[in-house]
Amino acid sequence: MVSSSVASSTLPPPLKESGQREVFCGLTSIVWLHRRMPDAFFLVVGSRTCAHLIQSAAGVMIFAEPRFGTAILGERDLAGLADANEELDRLVAQLLERRPEIRTLFIVGSCPSEVIKLDLAKASERLNQQHAGRVTVINYTGSGIETTFTQGEDSALQALIPLMPKSDQPQLLIAGTLADAVEDRLVGLFHKLGIERVASLPPRRSTELPAVGPGTQLLLAQPYLSGTARALVDRGASLIEAPYPFGVEGSRDWMAAAARACGVDQAQIDAVLDPLVERGRRALAPHREVLEGKRLFLLPDSQLEPALARFLARECGMELVEVGTPYLDRQLMAEELALLPEGTQLSEGQHVDNQLQRVREARPDLVVCGLGLANPLEAEGMATKWSIELVFSPIHGIDQAGDLAELFARPLRRRGALQFS
Ligand code: SF4
Repeated sequence: MVSSSVASSTLPPPLKESGQREVFCGLTSIVWLHRRMPDAFFLVVGSRTCAHLIQSAAGVMIFAEPRFGTAILGERDLAGLADANEELDRLVAQLLERRPEIRTLFIVGSCPSEVIKLDLAKASERLNQQHAGRVTVINYTGSGIETTFTQGEDSALQALIPLMPKSDQPQLLIAGTLADAVEDRLVGLFHKLGIERVASLPPRRSTELPAVGPGTQLLLAQPYLSGTARALVDRGASLIEAPYPFGVEGSRDWMAAAARACGVDQAQIDAVLDPLVERGRRALAPHREVLEGKRLFLLPDSQLEPALARFLARECGMELVEVGTPYLDRQLMAEELALLPEGTQLSEGQHVDNQLQRVREARPDLVVCGLGLANPLEAEGMATKWSIELVFSPIHGIDQAGDLAELFARPLRRRGALQFS
């Protein structure tokens, strides 16, 4: 393990930016959270804009009954909080009557609910009393004033932590939403390594929350869970220091760090993981041919950027022009920063105009950015990758390394094909 002090001495200080932001708010994370917990419902207390956002982020609704909705704050509500509370109570009662399968109701705050200072913690308390024994009501904020799209998941998980039972039993707890199939695969590998008790937050059923306590070894599957990590450590968990499970190297180190923390010996770690490494590298090879030597600019969006940059530079041979991240948690990122190539320029925070100017000056081969910036940059001749796609895709683990590289190689291949046709 390389210490973070080594990392910071080889990297120039990050550019600190603050200004206009071009990023989805935390409501967006409802799209993947509601898939993860089918017995939960997410009720956004917001405006029509909020309703449009989650519906368009979710795409066309393919579910017979969507598991999220919006309690629209109308002009009448804005004039009087009493009305807004009454309206919320009425809506929740209606919803619970119509949808008996809902076990956990997340009341999600938004910019409008914050602006009018609607106290959703108090509303949740009241609703919990009204519907005691039927449903658990919790609240968190997804407001764009406070959260970017991945921070929405951090807020939602933090809201669940006080409900987790206490246990001193030794266990490995994976925090951060994973695609179910990826999770099955990773849990199977941890079992093969000899770790018997493996739990996940969020769980697949909102009522089956894992326990937490001094025997818990906490392994983060997503790098944007600063608040969740702190709250779990406060409940007695020990945070495992590791890079994130992106690419062959990161995923192997991630699994090996967890195995060591759970007392698995090195020979067993090598015996289980080494064959996967070989296979993962073979899957990467054709994409490396496309990516090698190409210049990459990551705009700040998801907090996944330093980990993805590490993978794309070290395993795919890309040259990093700039690695932006909306927020840099030095503790959670220490292992990633230590693995970034010497001299990598990081930027923290957002100032869209300045960042776009640097992109235009550098003219990289590929820009990872938000949806709103992709079209203009494509029109200027640069290939782009939507950062939001990375949180919807199953990209974790050694077996997914080839698919992850392919996500970045695809826009370059497409652009190449267009130029020669
Ligand atoms: Fe827009 Fe705020 Fe609603 Fe998000 S929470 S959709 S940023 S108004």
